[in-house]
Amino acid sequence: MNKGKLIVFSAPSGSGKTTIVKHLLGKEDLNLEFSISAASRDPRGEEVHGKDYYFISLEQFKKHIKAEEFLEWEEVYRDNFYGTLKTEIERIWAMGKNVIFDIDVAGGLRIKHKFPEQTLAVFVKPPSVDELKRRLKQRSTESDDKINMRIAKASVELATAPQFDTIIKNYDLDTAKEEAYQLVKDFVSK
Ligand code: 5GP
Repeated sequence: MNKGKLIVFSAPSGSGKTTIVKHLLGKEDLNLEFSISAASRDPRGEEVHGKDYYFISLEQFKKHIKAEEFLEWEEVYRDNFYGTLKTEIERIWAMGKNVIFDIDVAGGLRIKHKFPEQTLAVFVKPPSVDELKRRLKQRSTESDDKINMRIAKASVELATAPQFDTIIKNYDLDTAKEEAYQLVKDFVSK
């Protein structure tokens, strides 16, 4: 199988990484395909099963863990499990494409360690924790409890930034998008 490159975007929730990943997916010259994760949470807003995530039950998720069908998985928040199925990477490589991931920092680093040469691991840094809070509240798709859970995790996640290949500061979205495009373009052209 022609194994493409792996592009990991990790960041605390609300950093803007999903927006950046969507922007890159629109660039045909990068030949990217989104790695659809399995998730045990319910769909939010306009999210679609088989496009944004494979929404599965906690029970089903645990079965996949037991059968060792995940490349990586994390209990990102309590009782909210997320993971990359091995079949997902195989599906994308079979298409002759590069894989792009929008996953949490622990999962991102795990992929980097499994495929060190093939992976570009990018950390997206928000301006500040206060700004993160503001963005999550503005999104208003979650309860205050859930938002606070995401904020509490953000400080821990920010400390892992130096372990990534590169850090993009998302202070201005257009600048961050362009920087991300150039980085990925250089890496996939190698
Ligand atoms: P959300 O609930 O906001 O969609 O995602 C919560 C967090 O889980 C985000 O940081 C997201 O990037 C991360 N995530 C999504 N899919 C995966 C995955 O397959 N593995 C890991 N480790 N994290 C994931």
